[in-house]
Amino acid sequence: MAALQDTKPENLPDSIRHYIDGEWVDSIDGDTFDVLNPVANEPYIKAASGKKADIEAAVAAAKKAFEEGPWPKMLPRERSRILHRIADIVESRGDQLAAMESYDSGLPITQALGQARRAAENFRFFADLVVAQTDDAYKVPGRQVNYVNRKPIGVAGLITPWNTPFMLESWKLGPALATGNCVVLKPAEFTPLSASLWPGIFEEAGVPAGVFNLVNGFGEEGYAGDSLVKHPDVPLISFTGESRTGQIIFGNAAPYLKGLSMELGGKSPAVVFEDADLEAAINATIFGVFSLNGERCTAGSRILVQRGIYDEFVERYAAQAKRVKVGLPSDPSTEVGALVHPEHYEKVMSYVEIGKQEARLVAGGGRPEGFETGNYVAPTVFVDVKPDARIFQEEIFGPVVAITPFDTDEEALELANNTKYGLAAYIWTSDLKRAHNFAQNVEAGMVWLNSNNVRDLRTPFGGVKASGLGHEGGYRSIDFYTDQQAVHINLGEVHNPVFGKQEDAAAKADG
Ligand code: NAD
Repeated sequence: MAALQDTKPENLPDSIRHYIDGEWVDSIDGDTFDVLNPVANEPYIKAASGKKADIEAAVAAAKKAFEEGPWPKMLPRERSRILHRIADIVESRGDQLAAMESYDSGLPITQALGQARRAAENFRFFADLVVAQTDDAYKVPGRQVNYVNRKPIGVAGLITPWNTPFMLESWKLGPALATGNCVVLKPAEFTPLSASLWPGIFEEAGVPAGVFNLVNGFGEEGYAGDSLVKHPDVPLISFTGESRTGQIIFGNAAPYLKGLSMELGGKSPAVVFEDADLEAAINATIFGVFSLNGERCTAGSRILVQRGIYDEFVERYAAQAKRVKVGLPSDPSTEVGALVHPEHYEKVMSYVEIGKQEARLVAGGGRPEGFETGNYVAPTVFVDVKPDARIFQEEIFGPVVAITPFDTDEEALELANNTKYGLAAYIWTSDLKRAHNFAQNVEAGMVWLNSNNVRDLRTPFGGVKASGLGHEGGYRSIDFYTDQQAVHINLGEVHNPVFGKQEDAAAKADG
């Protein structure tokens, strides 16, 4: 049988190389790896495979640009103008970007387009934020003025995953560059294509050479990701990926006492109470787990449903899951495309088989009809899932959902909190007090009440427990990418009418 093929985007490069100090370069040892298209599962391009020596060259370029270049010393307004130009260019190339992203990752084209728009918005947002930034200043009565001097830190190492790659890269690049740092980006090896568009965008926008560096390749020991984490001249690592990888990076960064931001995995609950708007809850929970092919860190992949509406919910949910349109990623009517890579496809399929042993299958459970090749999994719904089931506890990261009944509010909360993860939670009820109480007690970094996953860029993003450490988003990103130096100015011995000569406890040094 002939393998399915998707439409190749125009203007594909011949190969994907590193970009160091304003130049496209091959790996120093000449090594490359194949990149697959997830529909045909055939290699369509070669990418340079970075190792320690390539990371060393990229970090040296970033360090030089930081120490000698204009970037960290520019006024925020000047950097902000360049960042707005980046946003303009990303917007104007949205179609090309989305076509490449969709071809490389298997994401449905309409969703890839949305992600490209969000990437532009990330740059615009941080361009505005650094200009609007205010910092604290304190008067120590009659003695001192103390103020905060915010400074970029140096070379930031950015390590990103393969789900929504371009958007997630923008999320780190925006604040890291807006605050005056220089960066080395190590994109995910499954999806390096869209990252290869950044150098052209940055050059056109006026980012000086050396400020942005890109090293492609793998993450494991001896490869690019690991070498970036262990490089002594990289004081910051912003990482998004699996919790297990986060633990390894945490250990490898420990001897250097690096600043770490960890956005990790999830197994987020969507809790539907009997008094919920059922139609809205079903639509949102379908979208919440099947959009982005289910390869979404905040996917509501465990749905907890109150007993009184359980049977109706299950019946309607399964029917709707069967109507989700599986298709070629480039087709604008496609709602679920192909999973990113055969390795990931095997992982998701193994969970489908595990689920069949653990629970009752009511939709999907294998390849969708008409998609005999490519990394296709039909939207899959398991019900009556027990809390100790692996499909309840473990992140599957595909179009697979576990539905579990509950009776009381207490039981719902207990079930919601009953995994090692704590990224997001979604609550559906018409009782505001219940929703509010639940939100305050659920172990999740982000909670949506009667709402789809829509996030204002000013809000903190991040998880608790195994879902992450630290928060990015809004000012939290600015905090992560800057040092906050406290400067204490002595005003001399000033006589204060209340305290007299300044020897009071508050004015004495601590520590
Ligand atoms: P992954 O952890 O396998 O890889 C992520 C990145 O880390 C890749 O670039 C990889 O090459 C690199 N890497 C791997 N080992 C490394 C090491 N030892 N040192 C340094 N770098 C290393 O994750 P993935 O499979 O690409 O992405 C899926 C995961 O990402 C899921 O768990 C998902 O929930 C999570 N994710 C989280 C968020 C969030 O914001 N919390 C967002 C998106 C994805």
